[in-house]
Amino acid sequence: MSQTVPITVAHGDGIGPEIMEACLFILKEAGARIAIETIEIGEQVYLRGNAAGIEPSAWESLRRTRVFYKAPITTPQGGGFKSLNVTARKTLGLYANVRPSVAYNPFIRTKHPGMDLVIVRENEEDLYAGIEHRQSDEVYQCLKLITRPGCEKIIRYAFDYARQNGRKKVTAFTKDNIMKMTDGLFHKVFDEVGEEYPDLEKEHWIVDIGAAKMADTPEAFDVIVLPNLYGDILSDVAAQIAGSVGLAGSANIGTHAAMFEAIHGSAPRRAGQNLANPSGLLLGGVMMMVHIGQPDVAEAVHNAWLATIENGYHTYDIFKEGVSREKVGTREFAEWVVKHLGQKPQQLKAVTYSAASAMTKAAEVDLSRPPAKKELIGVDVFVHWAERDPNKLGEAIKALGDESLKLTMISNRGQKVYPDGLPETFCVDHWRCRFMSSTKGQPITHQQVVSLLGRVAAAGYDFIKTEHLYTFDGVEGFTRGQGE
Ligand code: NAD
Repeated sequence: MSQTVPITVAHGDGIGPEIMEACLFILKEAGARIAIETIEIGEQVYLRGNAAGIEPSAWESLRRTRVFYKAPITTPQGGGFKSLNVTARKTLGLYANVRPSVAYNPFIRTKHPGMDLVIVRENEEDLYAGIEHRQSDEVYQCLKLITRPGCEKIIRYAFDYARQNGRKKVTAFTKDNIMKMTDGLFHKVFDEVGEEYPDLEKEHWIVDIGAAKMADTPEAFDVIVLPNLYGDILSDVAAQIAGSVGLAGSANIGTHAAMFEAIHGSAPRRAGQNLANPSGLLLGGVMMMVHIGQPDVAEAVHNAWLATIENGYHTYDIFKEGVSREKVGTREFAEWVVKHLGQKPQQLKAVTYSAASAMTKAAEVDLSRPPAKKELIGVDVFVHWAERDPNKLGEAIKALGDESLKLTMISNRGQKVYPDGLPETFCVDHWRCRFMSSTKGQPITHQQVVSLLGRVAAAGYDFIKTEHLYTFDGVEGFTRGQGE
């Protein structure tokens, strides 16, 4: 029998405290060998003036236990308050968000009786890097960052997870027909890493049609791995069409720590009334018990929960006349789960967990790749310019080139508008002026870029940023403008 494991628990706010109390009651009755350190997070901490919603002493506990069982919290509306979820994921390096979505037909209403899929969402990168800028009167930007180590970690995790949990297929969703470099990298790494898992089926879908297929025929999917934004949206869709967002738990896994929670929020309107369904947080707790090496407890709790659902003891959100036996409150639901400990469901599929399930082990990633040969061959200079005539800007900016760098095009919102643009193209006040090495294939220097910028500034143009154009082992590390 494994030793007592310290875990950090936050009771959150809204319905958080009552569902956490219910879950801890069930886990303890099932024999969980855990030592709880309680921390305060959420609304009260925010309102005391801590913009992150968490105190330094709470970080100490998390860094010590490395296991976080977290009830939902309310993020106050308005400026300045940072989402604690995003902060916790990034600070603790919790790169994988794992969300199983399962239908419990016929006991919980669903349009998709055969649905049983797991979404593995990348948790740290993509548009969630939170790097946003206003660059001109009209233009705002959010940087989408996709990295090779980030892709390798999440994709390898998804394949390992599939293998360890008896899953047959891993599907990637990207939009690499449009975002050829960022989503293209995710797809490429998926193909590369996938080769190491010949026992698993692999497929890739463009995210739009993949999402439509998932919403229509979720039983066609098994494990789906995807970048952060698509994963955020589609994991909620998956949970909802399986039955209810109130039923899904989630694990956030990193190399050094892990966080377990429900996918729903603090449902403030339901708070304090003994109404809320603790199932999402409880299933998050089941994943936590597997993670800390107590699969016996995970299995007992999960099967007791399935038996409770099957026997019709339902909270208001899943209660249905004719199907449910009794409408119960949060506390009573927990008591029914405890009464079912030791039982298995009769119609729903019982679960089994073993030490080998290790469903939440972080993937190992090789960071020792040799660097590519990187050569600077041009620069995009972005200019804030309020007039709308690209030809006027083009002629003036062209004159600022020299023997090392020459203007090759100007684009507006990615569309080439100079030279030879069309008058129909709508232009905003944000212009990308592309300068390339005057001699094809001849690298340029940073100093040559700096002197170009000096000339742009001296000519009175407000340059707002530059992006260098490199080749990596001879391959262009940038995209061409539409029409370039
Ligand atoms: P929500 O998920 O809290 O609630 C939406 C609705 O779903 C509720 O009104 C309720 O009818 C139902 N619901 C949700 N969980 C339920 C449960 N366990 N049992 C029964 N019914 C349940 O979403 P929201 O109202 O958009 O957000 C409320 C607050 O929660 C916001 O401050 C938001 O920032 C926060 N939030 C926190 C987390 C988190 O801590 N992980 C996640 C999402 C939202």
